[in-house]
Amino acid sequence: MIDLHTHTTCSDGTDSPLSLVKKAASAGITVLGITDHDTTSGWQEATDALHGDMQLVLGAEISCLTLDGISVHMLGLLFDGENREIQTMLDESRDTRIPRMRKMTELLTASGYEISLEDVLASTPDGATLGRPHLADALVAKKIVSSRDEAFKDLLHNDSPFYVSHFAPTPVDAIGVIRRAGGVAVIAHPLASRRGATIDESLFADLVDAGLNGVEVYHRDQSVEEREQLIAVARSLNLVTTGSSDYHGTGKLNVLGENTTHQAEWERLESMANQRRVVKR
Ligand code: AMP
Ligand code: ZN
Ligand code: FE
Ligand code: FE
Repeated sequence: MIDLHTHTTCSDGTDSPLSLVKKAASAGITVLGITDHDTTSGWQEATDALHGDMQLVLGAEISCLTLDGISVHMLGLLFDGENREIQTMLDESRDTRIPRMRKMTELLTASGYEISLEDVLASTPDGATLGRPHLADALVAKKIVSSRDEAFKDLLHNDSPFYVSHFAPTPVDAIGVIRRAGGVAVIAHPLASRRGATIDESLFADLVDAGLNGVEVYHRDQSVEEREQLIAVARSLNLVTTGSSDYHGTGKLNVLGENTTHQAEWERLESMANQRRVVKR
């Protein structure tokens, strides 16, 4: 079972990398991708935790914004973690998430939802990429909402008046950086429309020109119709198709291995990386 997209306490998941690796092995995952938002800080712990036959795919989910301001998530897999260009890009994204979060708390407070940056940081694991789910957790702790899900539905979704963006590369830039660092680029849940606006299909050709390798098809936020649409896009542009759980621990309902990547698609994707960095024990 190949699950290429998961999160840990290094971003907005609730399992440590060690605990993720253990749970994935027990769940029967054979190839596990660890893809925290805008960070590679969980790689070492996940690597050290590896046991048995499971293989680890080190990666990151890079938050991007198109020139039209549409949010796109780009999975970078199998890249060189010591590459300066990619680490600089991830640093910049993480750094601007702090002033961004302060602004969101100020907007909320001005509307009567009293919450401070300090409250949010108290709900954020040390060193984690700061994100809206941590703000959601702080709102839950203050009993302003009852769950992450309710927080997103009522206050934190992409079209909410409290939403503020942070620095993010364009998808084309992110693909270039991932590829120059020796990795492969897979666009995550491109048609997950319930989260907000999604990219137009015509953008895919530009992304392929920039070096895009694959498209995430099997994901809980994409309907059967959306998956079929993406399979057609992948076929016409010769893209690899992937699937994943996008596991976040207790932060979301997603279960490890609930969606997976076909073996042959995985092998094709892996063969496109300059530096094959699947980690085995
Ligand atoms: P940010 O990167 O700070 O803008 O936050 C985006 C993150 O929020 C993504 O990783 C999503 O997984 C997460 N997210 C979006 N909608 C929800 C939801 N309804 N419940 C929990 N997490 C969500
Ligand atoms: Zn997340
Ligand atoms: Fe995502
Ligand atoms: Fe994700």
